[in-house]
Amino acid sequence: MSATRYIFVTGGVTSSLGKGILAASLAKLLQARGYSVTIQKLDPYINIDPGTLNPYEHGECYVTEDGAETDLDLGHYERFLNVPTSQANNVTTGRIYQSVINKERRGDYLGKTVQIIPHITDEIKRRILFLGTKRKYDIVITEIGGTVGDIESLPYIEAVRQLKWELGQNALVIHLTLVPFLAASGELKTKPTQHSVKSLLETGVQPDVLVLRTEHELNAGIRKKVALFCNVELDAVVQSIDVPTIYDVPNKMKEEKLDQTVLRKLGLPLKDEPQLEAWNEFLHKLKNPATTIEIGLVGKYVELQDAYKSIVEAVTHAGAMNSCKVKLRWLHSEKITEENVAKKLAGLKGVIIAPGFGHRGIEGKITVARYVRENNIPFLGICLGMQIAVIEFARNVLNLRDADSTEMNEKTPHPVIDLMEEQKGITEKGGTMRLGAYKCQLVNKDSNIYRAYNKLEISERHRHRYEFNNHYLEAFEAAGMKAVGVNPDTNLVEAIEIPANKWFVGVQFHPEYSSTVLKPHPLFVAFVKASLES
Ligand code: GLN
Repeated sequence: MSATRYIFVTGGVTSSLGKGILAASLAKLLQARGYSVTIQKLDPYINIDPGTLNPYEHGECYVTEDGAETDLDLGHYERFLNVPTSQANNVTTGRIYQSVINKERRGDYLGKTVQIIPHITDEIKRRILFLGTKRKYDIVITEIGGTVGDIESLPYIEAVRQLKWELGQNALVIHLTLVPFLAASGELKTKPTQHSVKSLLETGVQPDVLVLRTEHELNAGIRKKVALFCNVELDAVVQSIDVPTIYDVPNKMKEEKLDQTVLRKLGLPLKDEPQLEAWNEFLHKLKNPATTIEIGLVGKYVELQDAYKSIVEAVTHAGAMNSCKVKLRWLHSEKITEENVAKKLAGLKGVIIAPGFGHRGIEGKITVARYVRENNIPFLGICLGMQIAVIEFARNVLNLRDADSTEMNEKTPHPVIDLMEEQKGITEKGGTMRLGAYKCQLVNKDSNIYRAYNKLEISERHRHRYEFNNHYLEAFEAAGMKAVGVNPDTNLVEAIEIPANKWFVGVQFHPEYSSTVLKPHPLFVAFVKASLES
């Protein structure tokens, strides 16, 4: 087997240009040509992981099968590549410093002054190379978070400089920038790109490929100019024009021959033309829906759609599978009351209550849960969403008036959702939830969840501290809310249903994390189908 090749993706001019989507699209093309590819994200902030970050700061926290709380870009990587990522695919400055400082305390550097170069940069390099040497991928794509020129990114760029030097032709750098369009003069401007490449050059890194985000087609003149000013070959100046869906980007990059340019520069054979039939079949369905329905998404971060990224994508995948476009109606839980709930939910074919933490917005969610239960509207409750359905049922069906989760009210007389036993001694917040994939045994074949998965043993990812209180299980089941999935080792209730309703499912796990373009998640597919038929 030939040596692993390393591709670095840096960004310039502004953030939010879509480095993650670019990395995922290139990876998709290389994978479709027969290479094994993985993508890694290096995040230049000091937090150990985004698990403790407010979604307002950083969008959704994505969870891997092995229980890492990671950047939402890893979700894109999995959705595009259909291959699971792991703890090793997301590294932060906090984690780098933590391991260097731990080594220092152990005495590993005894006698030496510990410095950014070489100790921090060596640790960064070790984590980049790890995926190639230990996990044995043909190609590792490493996305450097932030924008070139940021103080925080400097050690990462320095590590890239060193690796480029050490790896020679086995490494290359793709720099993503913006070519803005000035409406007043009707011109596309390359100057910000030139400046951004200059600041990369100041750190000793010459980009091999430039990808230019643009709202308008770039003509040959602009490409030539960029090539000339930035020392890159003409065919290594790649246009990335705005497209209606992120899932168009692989095809756009294929048109621009980004994959071919990259393989040529890495000295790798082109192999087969990218096999994108299944991908394009999905795109065709996505773009030609037979019908449109509206589904409500209830949460407390609805002004920030990145907070629910994986849910939005899972719904998109499931819509395409059902040949229907799903419009999401974003419902702010704090603004929902018993008086306005009917109006707010009018016309919705289905409702999702999102995951979440803390007390804010809880009563609005409970009001929604009651409304959809009483009006037999298809419902999917995810994690906190399931817990809400349980609390609502306790209060309004079992008549346990002050029933609650102990997360919201420690003194509730009816803790129908309670802190997990294993969580009771825990005081540290970071990385201490029940995280990652656990088994769930479906109780029998007579449930909507079984009909969705079509198998009795499933495995799904988790991120929670509280659980259904089994002390109340009998009462719930007698009144019509059933535990339809449990963890076989601990009996923790993983899924509930109200069989009397058409489609009312709550899950303690997060199905949204594992929905991919080629494998839309069965639970979302079934939920959208039920909504479509309601
Ligand atoms: N806050 C709840 C818990 O910790 C739900 C978590 C979630 O929705 N991810 O159990």
